[in-house]
Amino acid sequence: MAKHYYIKRAGRISGPFSGSDVKTGVKTGRLLEQDLFSRSKDGPWRTLEGVFKKIRAKQTEYLLKTCPVCGISLVSESKVCHGCRSNPDSPAPV
Ligand SMILES: [Zn+2]
Repeated sequence: MAKHYYIKRAGRISGPFSGSDVKTGVKTGRLLEQDLFSRSKDGPWRTLEGVFKKIRAKQTEYLLKTCPVCGISLVSESKVCHGCRSNPDSPAPV
């Protein structure tokens, strides 16, 4: 069974949402760091702060990746460098 979550803001509970619904809400700014989430309507409730931290860490990871060919930062999750069009995961044979 897929995991689902409830969100509580200002005393009002909404949901259930899937894990990817919650992630999308965090990324699009629909959910706030101080919103509460729980696996059950009865709690225990935790803030979304940890979820925000995880998603931010993942985005930073991408920002820190650079292309081994031209050295520019790989800003997206795309496998192909947007600078030189090489694929860092499978470099062209020399
Ligand atoms: Zn490149």
